[in-house]
Amino acid sequence: MRFATDTTLGKLGRHLRAAGFDTLCQHQCRRGDFFDTVEADRVILTRTTAVKVRFKSRPLVFIRNNDPFQQMMQVVRELGIGQSDLRPFSRCLECNMVISQVGRDAVRGRVPDYVWQRHQTFHACGKCRRIYWAGSHHDRMCNRLAAIPRQKEKTHER
Ligand SMILES: [Zn+2]
Repeated sequence: MRFATDTTLGKLGRHLRAAGFDTLCQHQCRRGDFFDTVEADRVILTRTTAVKVRFKSRPLVFIRNNDPFQQMMQVVRELGIGQSDLRPFSRCLECNMVISQVGRDAVRGRVPDYVWQRHQTFHACGKCRRIYWAGSHHDRMCNRLAAIPRQKEKTHER
């Protein structure tokens, strides 16, 4: 399952990437046109009624909540996403690329010393070179992802 989001849903996009979902976020394109440029199987996530109407034949979730975590949980409920669908921390939050493990020595000097001392495992994005480790953001996101049900249960809110 992969996604494409409105400009206004950037934080939701980052949550979905943290969960491992391939998620494109609209940046510059004029409202709606962005969704014409992405693959048709991407689930459109939007808060815009005009987009909902225009793309009614495409898979789409119309987001109602303001809070990014609640937005993610709406997507989880409506699409029946379960823990087995998640690939946590496998993707760059910034550019959506799959990240890969890199040697500890390779990141020395590229992360703060206290981080390097404390952590054994690092991942890097091949595109933006950003380095990831299991720090406090990681823990907070783990707690959020733990709220996603183990079993898939699909419930539509209407
Ligand atoms: Zn990146």
